[in-house]
Amino acid sequence: MNKLKYGFASLMFLFAGVALAQEQEAKQERESGHYNQSRFKQLYEEFSTPNSYRSASGAPGPAYYQQQADYKMDITLDDKNAKIYGEETITYTNNSPDNLEFLWVQLDQNVRAKDSKSPLRNGNGVNFAYTAGNFAETFVTEPFDGGFNIEWVKDANGKPLSYTINQTMMRINIPQALKSGEQISFSIKWWYNIPDHTVNRARSGYEYFPKDGNRAYVIAQFFPRMAVYSDVEGWQNHQFWGSGEFALPFGNYEVNITVPEDHVVDATGVLQNRKDVFTKDMMKRYNQAKKSYDKPVVIVTQEEVEAKEKGFAEKTKTWSFKTEPGKMVRDFGFATSRKFIWDMQAVKVGGKDVMAVSMYPKEGNPLWEDFSTKAVVQTLHTYSKHTFDYPYHKAISVHAKNQGMEYPMICWNYGRPNEDGTYSDRTKYGMISVIIHEVGHNFFPMIVNSDERQWGWMDEGLDTFMQYLTEQEYGKNYPEDVAPNENYPSRRGAPEKIVPYMAGDQSYIAPIMSNPENVYQLGANAYGKPATALNILRETVMGKELFDHAFKTYAQRWMFKHPTPEDFFRTMEDASAVDLDWFWRGWFYTTDYVDIGVGEVKKFFVSGDVTTQMKEYMAARNITESDLPPLVYLVEEGSADYTDAMKGKAPSESSKTLKEFMMDNMTAEERAKVKEPKYFYEVTFTKPGGIPMPLIVEYTYADGTKENVTYPPEIWRKNDKEVKRVMSTQKELVGIVVDPKAETADIDTTNNAWPMKDEKSDFDQFKEKVRGE
Ligand SMILES: [Zn+2]
Repeated sequence: MNKLKYGFASLMFLFAGVALAQEQEAKQERESGHYNQSRFKQLYEEFSTPNSYRSASGAPGPAYYQQQADYKMDITLDDKNAKIYGEETITYTNNSPDNLEFLWVQLDQNVRAKDSKSPLRNGNGVNFAYTAGNFAETFVTEPFDGGFNIEWVKDANGKPLSYTINQTMMRINIPQALKSGEQISFSIKWWYNIPDHTVNRARSGYEYFPKDGNRAYVIAQFFPRMAVYSDVEGWQNHQFWGSGEFALPFGNYEVNITVPEDHVVDATGVLQNRKDVFTKDMMKRYNQAKKSYDKPVVIVTQEEVEAKEKGFAEKTKTWSFKTEPGKMVRDFGFATSRKFIWDMQAVKVGGKDVMAVSMYPKEGNPLWEDFSTKAVVQTLHTYSKHTFDYPYHKAISVHAKNQGMEYPMICWNYGRPNEDGTYSDRTKYGMISVIIHEVGHNFFPMIVNSDERQWGWMDEGLDTFMQYLTEQEYGKNYPEDVAPNENYPSRRGAPEKIVPYMAGDQSYIAPIMSNPENVYQLGANAYGKPATALNILRETVMGKELFDHAFKTYAQRWMFKHPTPEDFFRTMEDASAVDLDWFWRGWFYTTDYVDIGVGEVKKFFVSGDVTTQMKEYMAARNITESDLPPLVYLVEEGSADYTDAMKGKAPSESSKTLKEFMMDNMTAEERAKVKEPKYFYEVTFTKPGGIPMPLIVEYTYADGTKENVTYPPEIWRKNDKEVKRVMSTQKELVGIVVDPKAETADIDTTNNAWPMKDEKSDFDQFKEKVRGE
């Protein structure tokens, strides 16, 4: 009878207990006024619905397709007048299920046309300073006429094709729709004036060297290029305004480049006529370079270049380049000058030989002969390890003043020493970093071919993240190149580097998921913040093993294909079993920041008697102590039920019920092993910032020992503003630090420690003064 009554009552009590907890929780949520489950809501509304083209896993779907554009081009450089002439035949294959009524071709150089609308779209008023070149260009001289001059567009039979130019886009009006599965060939003839890229801030052009009267050319976006047609955008014909980069289909290229005889050329693709364009000496050195795995071999020396700089060849030479079957490219770039020194070194990547190449005018030395090819080699190693083996046969770094631009197999990089050959650390690290970054772009977006025009971060963010990993490895492999006992001084990637941006004026911050034309600080938005986010994801949220596998899965799934942001987000979850919707939401879809701190710390001890609160509870419900299961009570230090006798006592000493429980349920042996906690704390952690993050805590005890606990980000799922954790310890707790290693990009660390560091904020001091406290 007794037993029955007891069982019934305890059931009642349990129900009451559950109800009480739910009520308390709901009350807490109401009172906090910040109940915000949406931070952990899945991204169904933001993501497009998966379909047969793109699977919910983040992999290409069974119906995935991509278009192909193959190019045959003859290009002539007029070095005297800085003009470029070209004729191309594009063969376009429609692999889409759609019939295409017209084709869109990109005319990027039209951003420099006299009538370009690009300079007219800025409403920022007067700058406080201008570069002299930019000032002259804007206010003094006639605008540079650098747009494409299209001479004709013809079909495969040589008949003129009608076309319509809308700024940087050209619509080819084909007579009949290009049906699904069909192919079309057409040709375009054009020329344009090459800009001085050091004046015009162009991505491509020449630098003029007044001392010897020569130019060094880095040429890209120089030919009418097919726009992308895809399941996501249809035609990607968003105009080229200048900030949003490029979207390009894959294809095969055959390009003949005619330049003055005394120039050297390197470009995307395999050089087809090396024996015709190389001297005997160059050929001999090239064959040495193919076997030189430890250091570069100079193919064209500074001495040879200095002799050439004095002349100007009237005759020409044609250099022929062709891409390899099965290793398509999405673009083509080349560099040419009589000023180029040239070095090469072989690198083993996945058992195959790749040539790491550098091309630079003598003005780049001694920096370039010492560091360029070395940086290329490190990039190929680190990136290949984290993605896939670099598939092309070479990777070229070309020195061009103030440039940092990427194309398949070739890129332009800054890093110019002073005229006397001296240089600052800033110049040296800037140069190594930009080479790593631009060579790294071979992986993102040249091979993992994302749409840069729409999503700048997909290539810049992923590349800057990989750049950080590569820089750190470079620093470890070449300790002589960094300050003693220091890591490579990476400018971006480490969590603390993004704090000033994320803590900045919200009206000048855009989410990462924005078009590059529409953001205020493109460097921080598309490069720094995503790089830091991925670094934190790897180091702190997922762990290296899960992250690296998922990141590699993404790279391999989308190698030589066109991924979207969702394909990346989904793959990272698909390959790791980590729900990251909250992370993508906070870091990529909002402008929230991270700020987590520690608030109140309350001390509790075990009471041997029924507490006042429990007595009230029983009275209200007509229950007596005998109706209840054995209970243990924690009372807060200093509260009505607290006595000094409780302090530091083992719970089984204070609580008769616990002692009985232990006697009944544990053997003497088990009881002997037990280390009873003597201190109980309720610690309040606060979250003024919007982004939920893992709660990383370092507890320090009276004997100086430390304990580190990381609570998962899900701790914030029901309490967006604060959570309370109960700590039971044998030793007295004397200190708490949140995010002790600064891993989370926490923007305000003044709330990260308990007891609070004694410096009071200016605002608090001000308040105290006013109140007269
Ligand atoms: Zn970049």
